[in-house]
Amino acid sequence: MNCIFCRIIRGEIPSTKVYEDDLTFAFEDIEPQAKVHTLVVPKEHIENLNDMKDQSLWFAMLKAAQEVAKRKGIEKSGYRAVINCGPDGTQIVPHLHLHVLGGELLDSQMG
Ligand code: 5GP
Ligand code: ZN
Repeated sequence: MNCIFCRIIRGEIPSTKVYEDDLTFAFEDIEPQAKVHTLVVPKEHIENLNDMKDQSLWFAMLKAAQEVAKRKGIEKSGYRAVINCGPDGTQIVPHLHLHVLGGELLDSQMG
């Protein structure tokens, strides 16, 4: 499997880990769009949000995002959790990922 995020999860490509549990892995985005920009991914290769069927994995992803916010110290100041899906959603990497963005006041525009 040549997926870049699968390779990061396996440790074949270096990354700065923020959090990990049985189902999820979180690491710093290589090109941060905000002072805090961490990606949460399922360890299982799931291409995009349309393929996310498993309730417990969905719960684990959101719990991981909460944990990332805590560890990055942005729980109180606030943050945005974003999933881009497909071409119009500007999803570039075809392995489901949730962006956790914060550490500063974010642009109020969503699109
Ligand atoms: P997308 O546009 O698919 O929602 O976001 C993909 C994200 O993955 C981008 O923010 C991009 O900077 C990040 N990214 C792409 N390749 C790598 C990589 O090799 N390492 C890390 N840490 N982030 C990456
Ligand atoms: Zn993958």
